[in-house]
Amino acid sequence: MPLKPEDIQRLLKEELEKPTRGSKSKVDTTIRDYRTWFKLATSMIEEGGEPIKCENPNCQDPRPGDLQVCATINNRLMCRFCFLDGWLLNSENQMRME
Ligand SMILES: [Zn+2]
Repeated sequence: MPLKPEDIQRLLKEELEKPTRGSKSKVDTTIRDYRTWFKLATSMIEEGGEPIKCENPNCQDPRPGDLQVCATINNRLMCRFCFLDGWLLNSENQMRME
């Protein structure tokens, strides 16, 4: 039985209202904007209590001495500045083409 327009409307509404469970693992980190950043699991302190450091040798953080909020992308810690700057994006693309 084909869906009626009102059924589609209702399904779309349900889809939008669904809690985004498990969305953190599905974040597309090739889209480097604030919306993506805030979907990522970020941290400032390691499990051992050590402050987390961005792993980019050319870190774009204007205040690298301060505590950094970092997310782990491709097993590398990166701060918001490097994330928005597109760090590791090019190497990811190269790896995909090989
Ligand atoms: Zn950085």
